[in-house]
Amino acid sequence: MVATQTTHKNFKGVEKTVFGRGSFSQLDEIIAPIRTENEGYFVFLVDNYFKGKPLEGQVPAHAEDLTYYISVEEHEPTTDQIDQLRDEILAKKGLPSGVVGIGGGSIMDIAKALSLMLTNEGSSTLYQGLNLIKKPGIYHVGVPTISGTGAEVSMTAVLTGPVKKLGLKCEWTVFNQIVLDPELIASVPRNWWFYTGMDTYIHCIESENGRLNNAYSHAFAEQSMKLCREIYLGENSGQTPENDDKLMVASMMGGLSLTYSEVGVCHALSYGLSKILGTRHCYANCLIMNHLEDYYPQGVAEFKEMVAYHQIDLPQGLSKDWSDDTITQMAHVSYNLPHMWLHAIGDNWQETITIDVLKDLFRRL
Ligand code: NAD
Ligand code: ZN
Repeated sequence: MVATQTTHKNFKGVEKTVFGRGSFSQLDEIIAPIRTENEGYFVFLVDNYFKGKPLEGQVPAHAEDLTYYISVEEHEPTTDQIDQLRDEILAKKGLPSGVVGIGGGSIMDIAKALSLMLTNEGSSTLYQGLNLIKKPGIYHVGVPTISGTGAEVSMTAVLTGPVKKLGLKCEWTVFNQIVLDPELIASVPRNWWFYTGMDTYIHCIESENGRLNNAYSHAFAEQSMKLCREIYLGENSGQTPENDDKLMVASMMGGLSLTYSEVGVCHALSYGLSKILGTRHCYANCLIMNHLEDYYPQGVAEFKEMVAYHQIDLPQGLSKDWSDDTITQMAHVSYNLPHMWLHAIGDNWQETITIDVLKDLFRRL
């Protein structure tokens, strides 16, 4: 039976996309018409990994621009970090023409959040949630240098705040422009290539296995999973230029699948783990996916094949070092994501998903 619904999502997509090897060299030309806006300068946020690497010399920053090299090693983006950056930039030079984020999900989320917080007063903690932002942000561009999270196309900028790990989610969060240059992801270390790529695969499994899945989300997920299989399984698998092209597209399509659907059990648990122990999003997902055969039997079986094929070491027995209190806190964070449970389990999710069930799942790790 074809499911019918009375209200349908009316979502905004990225306005412009350039895809192709070497397309990063077009960035200067792309942003040139925007340079007349506001105080006439751009802010570049670049993953600190690129400091001293060839890409540093290719960032099209002009004399008037501000460039920040930001380390994403210590923690994922925080509300404090965004607030401080916003205050510093406005005090230095006033409202920029635009913001460009060059890096992974972390840097792209910082760029999205900064764009919004440059025009919305107060702390970013006030805006964690859906449609809480009051005014449009400034022009912003995303340039992924590692693929998988789908942050390049999503309408959220995930921030960890004192109380919650939750995105600034609204239409204005979406990038005005993205630059998808597969050459930029060639240097990603093998373990990150795997974990972040698996975020895409898990997005698709969760998008497909839930009640919000429809022909639209399915078409994107199906194609994205096909690409993931080519990249992570089979004779041509591995970090090759062809696969880098495919991974960039798979990441985008996995993200687009979620625009109509929703993430599920793995992400709900992953948020609990990340919020309480600071475990990185994509790595946390992999640790959890390994134990979700009760919910996604086929997806987990294939995920395990990919883990084995690439000899990725996913540690076991982590929970033996966690106190009951820690596990209870994780379970509460996960439980408080009803939109994910409604999608994954259905209206009666509270009958099967309880704090105790979640604690048992965390104890499997
Ligand atoms: P990341 O940005 O955290 O980077 C992971 C690591 O890869 C870092 O050490 C980084 O320095 C390194 N790196 C990045 N590009 C590289 C390159 N080309 N060569 C070598 N090293 C490189 O990675 P991520 O997994 O893309 O992002 C995770 C973040 O994304 C989390 O903060 C998560 O909350 C967020 N996220 C956002 C969304 C969204 O829709 N907005 C979705 C999922 C996850
Ligand atoms: Zn994810």
